[in-house]
Amino acid sequence: MQLIRGKEVAETVLAECREEIAHLKARGITPGLAVVLVGDDPASRAYVRSKDRKCQELGLYSVRHELSAETTQDELLALVRQLNADPAIHGILVQSPPPPHIDEAAIVRAIDPAKDVDGFHPVNVAKLALEDPTGFVPCTPLGCQRLLQASGIETRGAHAVIVGRSMIVGKPMALLLMAKGPGGDATVTVTHSRTQNLPAITRQADILIAAIGRPHFIRAEHIKPGAVVIDVGINRIDDPTSEKGYRIVGDVAFDEVAPLCRAITPVPGGVGPMTIALLMSNTIKACRQLTATT
Ligand code: NDP
Repeated sequence: MQLIRGKEVAETVLAECREEIAHLKARGITPGLAVVLVGDDPASRAYVRSKDRKCQELGLYSVRHELSAETTQDELLALVRQLNADPAIHGILVQSPPPPHIDEAAIVRAIDPAKDVDGFHPVNVAKLALEDPTGFVPCTPLGCQRLLQASGIETRGAHAVIVGRSMIVGKPMALLLMAKGPGGDATVTVTHSRTQNLPAITRQADILIAAIGRPHFIRAEHIKPGAVVIDVGINRIDDPTSEKGYRIVGDVAFDEVAPLCRAITPVPGGVGPMTIALLMSNTIKACRQLTATT
């Protein structure tokens, strides 16, 4: 069984980023990322801070806007417009989920698609479906694809089964795996909470992507021996033996599933580090595209 070490692959992605940043800086350009957080959800706050920290480590220009939970839709829209117009900012990310009074879809639509490094804007969703390489693909599925490629796992002709159909993970993952070319060319099945007899379908998977949000949901009964399993899940479960009182586990019951697999990602240390690395990479791509001289 091969353990797919996301941390190591993420380091490779970040090394490529450093190289590209050096080239851009030689042209007098510093890629800039603006991260906006509304409210005080602790998990979101932690994500936003780690994104900011990673920018600083790489020498990117980064701006963090932490707004109160009472911020209005209009105030948030005004900030997005200001960032759209700011030439020092090439990537804009509004951390999800915002408080319930905010219309998240409207905020996403207000972001300049050329700066939408999360890849959630309808223009970028369409570009992914159209296989237009100028678009931005959501960082987590992009990271999963890169993990497969870096681990020498052939997607061409493989049956990939995805559990989950969210716009953040499941759907873009399906589009990436079914796209033509390296890292794609798979036969893709997408499953969700209304799928009947899920284990019978997941047992057909050469590559199984779990993006459900339920701790240890995928068990031995879901796995075809020799399958490759990518666990996207990040779930907190109570753990009185840990200092924090909780620990992070994936959507896959790792101990039970790993012995059956050809390869599997751990949680933590699998998909998680890839997401942030691909965010950096998307920001650099945005900068490159916005500053390209023709
Ligand atoms: P969502 O809640 O948006 O989507 C979950 C999906 O799982 C839905 O499509 C849902 O089906 C499906 N599902 C729920 N229960 C079942 C079930 N019993 N059987 C089959 N399918 C089911 O979650 P996200 O896609 O945003 O995230 C999924 C997981 O990935 C979470 O743990 C999240 O924390 C993690 N995540 C990790 C990231 C990373 O960086 N590693 C980044 C983003 C997410 P239906 O559509 O029918 O409701």
